[in-house]
Amino acid sequence: QVQRALLALTIPLEMLQAVKGHMLQAMRKGLSRQTHAQANVRMLPTYICSTPDGTEKGDLLVVELCQSHVRTLWMTLLGDGNQSPQVTNKIFDMPGDIMQGKGEALFDFIAQCVRQFLAGINSPQHRLPLGFVFPFSCRQTRLDKVSGATLSRCHLLPSMSSLGSRAGLVTEANGSATCSPQAELISWSKGFSCSDVEGKDGTNSCFMAEAQQVEMAEETSGRMCVNTEWGCFGDDGTLSDILTPYDQCVDQESSNPGEKRFEKLVGSLYLGEIVRHVLTALAAEKALFIGSSVTILGTKGVLKTQQVLEIIDNEEGMAKARKALEALGLRPSERDCCRVQQICRAVVSRAAALCAAGLAAVLSHMCQSRELEQLVVNVGVDGELYRGHTRFGEILQSVTGLLAPECMATFLPSVDGTGRGAAMVTAVALRLAAHRHEVDQLLAPLRLSRADLERVQALMRREMELGLGRESNTNASVRMLPTYVRGTPDGTERGEFLALDLGGTNFRVLVVRVSQDGIRMASEIYVIPTTVTQGTGEALFDHIIECIMDFQLKQNLMEQVLPLGFTFSFPCQQLGLDKAVLLSWTKGFSASGCVGQDVVQLLREAAQRKQHLALKVVAVVNDTVGTMMSCGYDDPKCEIGLIVGTGTNACYMEEMQNVGTVEGEQGRMCINMEWGAFGDNGCLDDIFTDFDRLVDEKTINAGKQRFEKLISGMYLGEIVRHILLALVEKQLLFRGKPCPKLQTRDIFQTKFLSTIEIDGLGLRQVRSILQDLELQASFEDSVLVREVCQTVSLRAAHLCAAGLAAVVEKMRENRGLAQLAVTVGVDGTLYKLHPRFSQHLQQMLRDLAPNCTVTFLQSEDGSGKGAALVAAVACRGANP
Ligand code: ADP
Ligand code: MG
Repeated sequence: QVQRALLALTIPLEMLQAVKGHMLQAMRKGLSRQTHAQANVRMLPTYICSTPDGTEKGDLLVVELCQSHVRTLWMTLLGDGNQSPQVTNKIFDMPGDIMQGKGEALFDFIAQCVRQFLAGINSPQHRLPLGFVFPFSCRQTRLDKVSGATLSRCHLLPSMSSLGSRAGLVTEANGSATCSPQAELISWSKGFSCSDVEGKDGTNSCFMAEAQQVEMAEETSGRMCVNTEWGCFGDDGTLSDILTPYDQCVDQESSNPGEKRFEKLVGSLYLGEIVRHVLTALAAEKALFIGSSVTILGTKGVLKTQQVLEIIDNEEGMAKARKALEALGLRPSERDCCRVQQICRAVVSRAAALCAAGLAAVLSHMCQSRELEQLVVNVGVDGELYRGHTRFGEILQSVTGLLAPECMATFLPSVDGTGRGAAMVTAVALRLAAHRHEVDQLLAPLRLSRADLERVQALMRREMELGLGRESNTNASVRMLPTYVRGTPDGTERGEFLALDLGGTNFRVLVVRVSQDGIRMASEIYVIPTTVTQGTGEALFDHIIECIMDFQLKQNLMEQVLPLGFTFSFPCQQLGLDKAVLLSWTKGFSASGCVGQDVVQLLREAAQRKQHLALKVVAVVNDTVGTMMSCGYDDPKCEIGLIVGTGTNACYMEEMQNVGTVEGEQGRMCINMEWGAFGDNGCLDDIFTDFDRLVDEKTINAGKQRFEKLISGMYLGEIVRHILLALVEKQLLFRGKPCPKLQTRDIFQTKFLSTIEIDGLGLRQVRSILQDLELQASFEDSVLVREVCQTVSLRAAHLCAAGLAAVVEKMRENRGLAQLAVTVGVDGTLYKLHPRFSQHLQQMLRDLAPNCTVTFLQSEDGSGKGAALVAAVACRGANP
């Protein structure tokens, strides 16, 4: 009979594996937003996103709320990595009426203890960070939002030592506590509301989870400590296979039947009770204590967990067993004592093995979610079971090793876990808060408020009006250039055209065939060396003609004279569809002798020099116009073109009567805004940051294209690079270690922003990008670099939205509509490949221009196709 009892209490390894599997499932359920509410293992986010790194320093105060007393503790950290700092502490007994009384009185009492303690140790006068150990499960909404607490600015945390059953609470206080309850307490447990439960310690764990998986916390990067609250594991019946009749009795007699099933198997609070029920059953079967009266065993709580733990001791155990049993009035034989010891061992071993199954689940979860083959990790352990009894610890460690062989866990018993843990958490929270504060300060100028964006929108609108006015045009930073494009395609365009695309990353020559069946194209990319883009104008245009000739040769087009559309994506004063005077170079071009000249004329002259006489330039267009036209071919509502690539610019259809710079009042004309220059007159000066100024200074057109330099691909990487340099200098990144490679201009490419910001991309990959730049990034560094990228690209998208909002609102007003539906044709690699840019742009545009329904259509090769379509539309007019 004894053997049968022992067997029931022994859980085979396969069963433990299953328990681990169930625990993993339960954890996932707790982490997911959909299932969190029903989860038994609640996986409460703690908003602790870092563990101590040894640099924490300062004086810390800890208050621990215990079953029947309040403990205060003082610790000084020197930031020297010393793991065992000096601690002073004092215990205050809690009057019973306080324990059972009102929350307010309880917290008043705690405040009093703090005041007395501080008076007693001659505390300094400055405000002190305070860690508050609060042994109840709480739902946290932020690090500083906590329930039931009446201390100001609270941070609620589980103690950093895992397996302690407590939660810690960190707060800043100045001795006199003020009241501001901010979050809700989920439930009181362990002692305070159920006065019949004596002793303490259930079981619980916390671990650093990938924050992204903690769906209840809207934190997407980094790691966050999650308090598993695993005591309720099994409340849905998952543990029924391993529950014994003894466990059922313990549960039935407890103050919360059916709840905390895992805790009732593992927590030290219940071990004595389990043993008592085993003994009761065996005595009833006459397998123990023959000849004794065993009625005493029917009384709850007569066998303490402490006694069970003494009985399992190898040396003194037998004597302790006899003593404990005799104290109950039993007359145990030698055999009885021996069996009682076996039973106690079985109960403790089972607790340790189940605890190991839970821990193995946590470790495996960490290992999986970090995509590691092997996890090497330290586990801080506290609790009287672990501390006092090597047997428990040995089983815990060995079974954990069996159940999670892919994890190398080192167990670190925490000395005075909860008190010191809370102090360490306070210290970490302070370090992080200080760090965060500095980072926020540095990034603050880049974070534009809604009001800022509304102001940008209004300024853009003003500059648009100025640019359109005949007199005011010269003073406007947004030049609003007429394009002589008066209509978008109507689908009747036909023919074969040549097209040139100059002004993007690549120079291209294309042949475009427009027919009933749609558009077909062939193209060739030609490299223009920097020596040419920044040399003489003659050399540049000669080079272009050579490329055209090469292309015609390859495409077998030498014999034909095809109409040519020229996409020339630089600001031009257009005097006709085929006459465009270059106003200024942008995007890294600076060929001499071109500004002030008609670029079509320059092209024709080069053709003459090169003896290429069969060239018929029909139209010169900006890439924004090309983009609008090519999207317009598919969607007649497309009346706006937008580019976010190397540079940024936009065009749209304006009423002729508003265009003061061109004669005529009828119909509409496409206006090339050249919005990249927005702000060149100083109107955006208060938006520019020091980083923007540094980037601008190093460009070949300093002081020019200021709006573009906040938004487009040529500059975002550089802005990020300057911010990273500033963070390093302030010791906020890479531990302040100098990064020589980061000093190199353009080393941080805009495409890195896209990679780094991709959702769900493991931070390890961010680290590897940084490693390629010879930057040794810690986990926290990677998180910070990502934040910088996000800040810079978000600002770019929002500024772009503010600009577009001005455009669509003007179009709506022009047409006297309450609601405008319009399509924007978009091109540019930044817009197309950045994982968030378009989404942020569209969201903010909806916000800023609520009366416009704006659809975005990505153009496929807009500048090539568009130039041909402009030529086609022009030819349509010329040869009816
Ligand atoms: P252009 O505007 O010159 O016609 P693109 O539209 O291709 O050319 O844009 C080129 C710009 O896009 C480059 O300046 C580069 O910084 C940026 N870029 C390239 N790849 C990416 C990417 N994956 N994500 C974001 N930006 C990129
Ligand atoms: Mg382009």
